[in-house]
Amino acid sequence: AKYVYSWGAGKADGNGTMKPLLGGKGANLAEMGRIGLPVPAGFTISTEVCTYYYDNKRTYPAALQAQIAAGIGKIEKIMGVTFGDATRFPLLVAVRSGARDSMPGMMDTILNLGLNDETVIALERATQNPRFAWDCYRRFIQMYGDVVLGVQKRAGEDHEPFETVLETYKDETYGNGHLEDNKLTADDLKTIIDRFKALVKERTGKAFPSDPWQQLEGAVSAVFGSWMNDRAIVYRRKYNIPAEWGTAVNVQAMVFGNTGDESGSGVAFTRDPATGEKVFYGEFLLNAQGEDVVAGVRTPEAVAELAKQMPKAYKELDRIRKVLETHFKDMQDFEFTIQDGTVYMLQTRNGKRTGVAAVRIATEMVKEGLIDWKTAVMRVPADQLDQVLAPIFDRVAVKKANVIARGLPAGPGAASGEIYFNADRAVEAAAKDKKVLLVRVETSPEDLRGMIAAEGILTARGGVSSHAALVARQMGKVCVCGAAALHVDYNKRTLTVDGTVYNEGDWLSIDGTAGEVYAGRIETGASEVIQGLVENDAEAKKGRTFKNFVQLMKWCAEGTRMTVRTNADTPEQVRNALAFGAVGIGLTRTEHMFFEGDRIDAMREMILAESLEARQEALAKLLPYQREDFFGIFKELKGYPATIRFLDPPLHEFLPNSGDQQKDLAKKLGIPVEKIQQRVHDLHEFNPMLGFRGCRLGIRYPEITAMQARAVFEAAADANKKGYKAKPEIMIPLVGFKKELDLQVEVVHEVARKVQAERKTTINYSVGTMIEVPRGALTADEIAQTAEFFSFGTNDLTQTTLGMSRDDSGSFLPPYEELEIVKKNPFATIDQTGVGALMRIAVEKGRQTRKDIKLGICGEHGGEPDSVKFCDAIGLDYVSCSPFRVPVARLAAAQAAL
Ligand code: PEP
Ligand code: MG
Repeated sequence: AKYVYSWGAGKADGNGTMKPLLGGKGANLAEMGRIGLPVPAGFTISTEVCTYYYDNKRTYPAALQAQIAAGIGKIEKIMGVTFGDATRFPLLVAVRSGARDSMPGMMDTILNLGLNDETVIALERATQNPRFAWDCYRRFIQMYGDVVLGVQKRAGEDHEPFETVLETYKDETYGNGHLEDNKLTADDLKTIIDRFKALVKERTGKAFPSDPWQQLEGAVSAVFGSWMNDRAIVYRRKYNIPAEWGTAVNVQAMVFGNTGDESGSGVAFTRDPATGEKVFYGEFLLNAQGEDVVAGVRTPEAVAELAKQMPKAYKELDRIRKVLETHFKDMQDFEFTIQDGTVYMLQTRNGKRTGVAAVRIATEMVKEGLIDWKTAVMRVPADQLDQVLAPIFDRVAVKKANVIARGLPAGPGAASGEIYFNADRAVEAAAKDKKVLLVRVETSPEDLRGMIAAEGILTARGGVSSHAALVARQMGKVCVCGAAALHVDYNKRTLTVDGTVYNEGDWLSIDGTAGEVYAGRIETGASEVIQGLVENDAEAKKGRTFKNFVQLMKWCAEGTRMTVRTNADTPEQVRNALAFGAVGIGLTRTEHMFFEGDRIDAMREMILAESLEARQEALAKLLPYQREDFFGIFKELKGYPATIRFLDPPLHEFLPNSGDQQKDLAKKLGIPVEKIQQRVHDLHEFNPMLGFRGCRLGIRYPEITAMQARAVFEAAADANKKGYKAKPEIMIPLVGFKKELDLQVEVVHEVARKVQAERKTTINYSVGTMIEVPRGALTADEIAQTAEFFSFGTNDLTQTTLGMSRDDSGSFLPPYEELEIVKKNPFATIDQTGVGALMRIAVEKGRQTRKDIKLGICGEHGGEPDSVKFCDAIGLDYVSCSPFRVPVARLAAAQAAL
């Protein structure tokens, strides 16, 4: 079998389509090699080897070693250098991980591999640059010692042991432990190397390996091993990357950005990843290796500066930037090194971008003719569309606020929170429902948990491609980085800016679009899109983001098969949802209409009533409320259909539970409190979510159904009279038996006949049911004889299929996700194998009986992209979700159809 894929000299074994096998980095290095971009020669060890490694107790296929040797042989031939050569310029290699999807900073890398006491002398002689040669060797021992040999911080140590050695030396020799590394001489470095080696010997009991082949073997194992390190596992869980994918390992000839002032390393984007603007964007460090840029150790300069400092190299990079976009037809994020004036490409990949940038780049690339509109729709990750709707600071409040520092705008949006200086404490505070800003000097992958928990991230050091910036962008977190005026003291837990001290727990606000830091808490407000669409603000409608968003939604409308409705209980919610493009209501939860004001009293009176008369008296009070609500909704809907779900109150949500509530109600109803206590006691349920819910209420008390039907039909008649064309679709909840539906539908039709006769009008209505218990799904053929439509109530269908209470799942689901018993929270993303199987059955059986039965979903899953795609796959006609999720659902629905 072939495990090793080489590239170099304009040829490659692999290509850009082979990401599953070669990983993202390996496949694109091959592709860049193929199209003649300047890539140093190298090879990829495939992800199959990673899988083999973990399936076979961390061992390798027998054929691998020879293939690696042949791979090195090819690099030697192309580059004209030899691995382990102690006489001339030796071949040094970089060993890097590369999974199918990039996992920035999560796995290990080793640079300058191949150096030892002999080859370092050869390198020194060949380059006539002793400082450079010994600096490479110093870096190599440090990286290899840390990553491969595990010489790392132990419990109780404050610093990495190699850093301690380095600082101690600088302090002894120059009286300054923080002297910059590039001030050290070759002789300094030689002494430091001796101390590093002694440290390795002391910590591992073995000498540092000097044989380059042995070094290579160790590095390859370390990279495969890093696939299972803690932070890689946390990252995979967050982004749903399966562990089976594995990582590839890339071995590539080193080029050097640290040979002098004609050299450097950088990271660049073909467009601005924060805003999407078409500008050459990025940063570089003179006389540095790539890791220095990403690590945020020195603050890099903007790529535009390169035009002044190295005009030829800049021109070449700008040419490559254009080649990359025309070839890959997407915004690229690439790494380069300039060695003595010559540009080399080390990596390219589709650049991570903010939601705002994704929308802008996709729409502008269509205008430029690079991609077609369908590709543009596919390009915007549906779950990122939320960012376009993300809050911004209130315009008035922010004018009064005080800017205390500026940094780089690394993740757009506005965030306000209490500051925390460490990830654990940030997580703790967030768990107590506090709004948290994570403030760090710079972030590293260890901070990931804290970043996930925080509203926003603020750092004092590092550039737009630093770890903090990359991760924030991907998570859609608000982020300001490199705000140099901040002085963070981790020990005292303080942040000092211009002499003012902020303590942990104090409020700050950050604007990740402008890169500004404000003292105190600032109210956040709606985004441009919300202002334009929902508030109809003329100024907002002129904005670029608004226009791009509207264009994207137009394409979605063209590409979609399913329509998107909304779950709404009030006219205002309907208005918002229609502004986002919803074409009707998929679920009105009528019981929600009784949470307001004193309506709850009439509702309680109805629930507590002991006789038909008493109940009818209470119902008579509820009727006008309902009629008024329905009228408001019909009016707002402008002729779009409204699925109105009849009462489904989990009783415990409505019963007056506390003594005070009971006393109040007793007073209002003029009955003794004991009586109420007795009734509440009678109605108490052990499993209220599986109790007196849904149509069970209407079966027991048909007068409730009759009242609701009357309210709907009278409101519809009123609306029709005013020209609003009401289209009620009455939906009976929690049906498991055809007979349940039959009985309820009879009541509905009976009232319909009466109201139509009374009002001398016809009403355009239909009656259907929710499919939300397994028996309903399994007998859908019978139920469809009566039901004109089905709407999947996946909240209850998940609860009842899994036998997991939707109210209590929070207490036992987290370990289920951690142990991967469930891939994702089934209450957020449809469990396709279990719940999904029941849905497929119901769809098939429903259509068997009634060919044109209308099918939709109204559980919370209706606004979650993966679930929306599943609904398309099983042939539903529409999805329904909360108003602010409508754009996300529309995009996901269009993507599913294209
Ligand atoms: C459902 O069960 O999915 C549903 C939409 O109804 P509710 O959430 O009101 O029970
Ligand atoms: Mg339900």
